[in-house]
Parts: sequence; structure tokens; C-alpha cells
Amino acid sequence: NPLLSIKNLVKVYGKDTRALNGISLDFYPGEFIVVIGPSGAGKSTFIRCINRLVDPSEGEIVFDGQHLEKLTGRKLRKNRAGIGMIFQHYNLVGRTNVIKNVLHGQLSNLPLYKSLLGLYRHEDKQEAVELLKKVGLQDQIYKRANELSGGQMQRVGICRAILQRPKLLLADEPIASLDPLSANIVMQQLHTISREKQLTCIVNLHQVDYAKKYATRIIGIKQGAVVFDGVPSQLTEAM
Ligand code: ADP
Ligand code: ADP
Repeated sequence: NPLLSIKNLVKVYGKDTRALNGISLDFYPGEFIVVIGPSGAGKSTFIRCINRLVDPSEGEIVFDGQHLEKLTGRKLRKNRAGIGMIFQHYNLVGRTNVIKNVLHGQLSNLPLYKSLLGLYRHEDKQEAVELLKKVGLQDQIYKRANELSGGQMQRVGICRAILQRPKLLLADEPIASLDPLSANIVMQQLHTISREKQLTCIVNLHQVDYAKKYATRIIGIKQGAVVFDGVPSQLTEAM
């Protein structure tokens, strides 16, 4: 069974900006999917519709057996907890230290007073440290996030998303602001962690070379429609 099934997804911004033009795709457990396409193709809108940061205009999004497009409020938040997100600009709290940023991913799973008081669970703290070691940030744990390099910040972003223990990980242009060396480290770590945890990943990239290097499956999007869906070796000049 697919973990995520998308049917006829349409997004229209304003009156007539048709960012997604009827996308239907099934995603299976353990896939490492890279979505590629030129700027403005609809990649970011696609990812944001899946976790409802953007509300789709039409279509179905069935995640783990639930119709996300129909949920609101607390039910939506509960289901969204199974979906981790990594952002191009990291979205860390700059003045807060690295481990607290990682633990922020778990806030929505704690009672409100505990999260306000920063009473994180012991097992979450331990796992946060383990994750930070795994991505090579063991010496940065108590530094403020804004003292890190871009590549290091994104590795914190990965740890935060993984600590949430999602079934699905979404990444919107996670390496677009990084130099090639940092970009490769981030992609390699994402790839390794997702394989170890058997986590389904959907990653937006505009660089075809990284897609070919890391994806198990590539989706090509142009003008809001799927123009390619296959393994990297099948990718032709279509993109
Ligand atoms: P990509 O991620 O492939 O660059 P986007 O999903 O960001 O593509 O954009 C797809 C189209 O939707 C573009 O024409 C873009 O200008 C438009 N768009 C994206 N976000 C908004 C928004 N919040 N309001 C209006 N139009 C938007
Ligand atoms: P990025 O490449 O970092 O995603 P963008 O310039 O594509 O940056 O988008 C920045 C923000 O502006 C996003 O929230 C996006 O949804 C919004 N946006 C993009 N295109 C438009 C548009 N044509 N009209 C209004 N908002 C837009």
C-alpha cells in the first residue's frame, strides 16, 4: 500500500495562477524521491500542499490512511505530526542553542505547560544528542544556532525533523543555499538517515545532478504537471 496517495491535486493562487494542474502520484514506504523542475514549476507548492502549509484547491491527499485535505484544527495537527519538514532557510531559532532547536520538533507532542517550561523528555534529549553526533555536530550542541554555518544549520534541521519520528519527510530545496561541499554532506546524511529509518523522503531540488546521485525515484514537474516519473537511469533530456 502507498504511504501517501495524491489524486488530481490542483492549486490555483488568486484568480488564475495555476501552480498545480492535476497531479496524481503514489509514494511507497522507503522511497527517496527527488522532485525536480525549473523555478516556478510548482515544486514548492506541491510539497506544501502535502502538509497543508498551503491549502489545495482540488484533489485528495491520503496519508497513512487519512484524507488530509478534509482535516482541520487539532486533527490536522495530529496527522501532520507524522510528516517532518526541512526548509531551504532552515527555520531555526537563531538565539536558541542547537539541542533546543532539535527538541523543538517534539514540542507539539508534549503537554503545553511542559513545552512552555522546556521540560523535554529524557529520551528525547538522549536521541537529540545521538542524532547530532550522527551528523557530526557533537561539538556544536550548546552553541547558538546563528553561530553555525549554513550546512551545519541544515543538519540541525534534519535532526529536528527526525526527532519528530515522522513516517514521511519533506524537504523543500534543502541545499539551494549551500555550497557544493555542504550540499553533498546534507544530501548524503539525509539519504543515510532515511535508509536506516526506512523513512519515505520527498525532496525538492532544482539540480538534476544531485537528483541522479541520491534519488531512488525522480519526479519531473513542469508548469504544474508531472512530465517524468522513473528511476534516475531513465531520466532523459525530457527535463
Ligand atoms: P517552484 O517551487 O517549482 O519554484 P512554486 O510552487 O514556488 O514553484 O511556484 C509555482 C507558481 O505558483 C509560480 O508561478 C509562483 O509564482 C506561484 N506562487 C507560488 N506561491 C505563491 C503564492 N503564495 N501566491 C501566489 N502565487 C504563488
Ligand atoms: P523560495 O525560492 O525561497 O521558495 P520564492 O520567491 O519562490 O522563494 O517564494 C517566497 C515566498 O513567496 C513563498 O512563501 C511563496 O509561496 C511566495 N510567492 C512565490 N511566488 C509568489 C507570487 N507570484 N505571488 C505571491 N507570493 C509568491
